[in-house]
Amino acid sequence: MTDKTKNIPMLDLKAQYLPLKDEIKSALKAIIESGRFILGQNVSSFEEEVASYHNVNSAVGLASGTDALHLSLNALGITAGDEVITTPFTFIATAEAIAYVGAKPVFVDIRKDTLNTDTSKIEEKITPNTKAIIVVHIFGQAADMDEIMAIAKKHNLKVIEDSAQAFGAKYKGKPVGTIGDCGCFSFYPSKNLGAYGDGGMMITNNEEAAERVRLLRNHGTTAPYQHSFIGYNSRLDEIQAAILRIKLRHIDEYNSNRSKIAEIYTSILGNAIQCPVELDDRTHIYHQYTMKSSERDNIQVLLKEQNIPSVVYYPLPLHLQGAFKYLGYLDGDLPESEAVAKEVISLPMYPELDPEDAKYIAETVLKAIG
Ligand SMILES: *Cc1c(COP(=O)(O)O)cnc(C)c1O
Repeated sequence: MTDKTKNIPMLDLKAQYLPLKDEIKSALKAIIESGRFILGQNVSSFEEEVASYHNVNSAVGLASGTDALHLSLNALGITAGDEVITTPFTFIATAEAIAYVGAKPVFVDIRKDTLNTDTSKIEEKITPNTKAIIVVHIFGQAADMDEIMAIAKKHNLKVIEDSAQAFGAKYKGKPVGTIGDCGCFSFYPSKNLGAYGDGGMMITNNEEAAERVRLLRNHGTTAPYQHSFIGYNSRLDEIQAAILRIKLRHIDEYNSNRSKIAEIYTSILGNAIQCPVELDDRTHIYHQYTMKSSERDNIQVLLKEQNIPSVVYYPLPLHLQGAFKYLGYLDGDLPESEAVAKEVISLPMYPELDPEDAKYIAETVLKAIG
């Protein structure tokens, strides 16, 4: 048995690189030889290609997904004293961005099936200071956008879609990031569309917001060495944009391979453990394949013994993080998020994962929990 134990990683970025190797190498060589590294042809072409993929007017390349959220909030006029509703069950960047503009994150609990925001709990948190909602499409499945957009319309709130984990996922046929006022993406290497370093993007049909983000990313520069307001240094670079342009051509295939791996996992594990819940009016691109069990900690130890990697996304909801202690939340305030944080466990997931290996992983998990 031991000699048959496979060495399967959580994520294999090299497997995605190999078939693209020659194309990537020649793109990099051309950039290095051109000497143009910042805001050149690759960034503007990638912006056009992402805008056209999403059928929106504008896309702005940025240095990270965190910056996409931060600069979008700024561009939509969210400022000190405002409140922004979001989920506590996400990566910290979602709420950090709210703090960066001086606004207050207001956390709303999640649905325990999809792990996305429970929209029935949003309205009770709205005050006269509430100006926006940052909705997260957690692990690659869209949140309940119709309900969110209806609440936003009723209370005159902006909606930012944190689509960092869901590039290409669809809600009722529409790609995520195109339903709210703007969509934010991260190209961190482990994301489903990943660069070879940091990168991010904001997409929108609001030309004014796009123009503001375009200026903010480059020190508020309106003409050479003319700065009409304080901006930032948050540009996507040519090398990352060139790599992302190559990978963008394959994103739908990557996403569909992820779903196929998920299907294998669920077909083997569906009766033994709580597998991810897929809603039928939207696609799940499985940025993560995240199961739930009250025996999570035990399961993780057993999997480790069998050389199967797993990760807990996320072990502590944001309202209980030290960084947000100043907001005054207590244990028990958001019970679903707190319960889920104790139960979630994610299995290896990447488009190139061999279906035979996925089967082996699921069968090993089945034995470990059975
Ligand atoms: C990764 C991630 C971010 C931040 O993106 P970076 O590019 O790492 O700054 C924001 N929100 C969510 C949900 C993420 O998963």
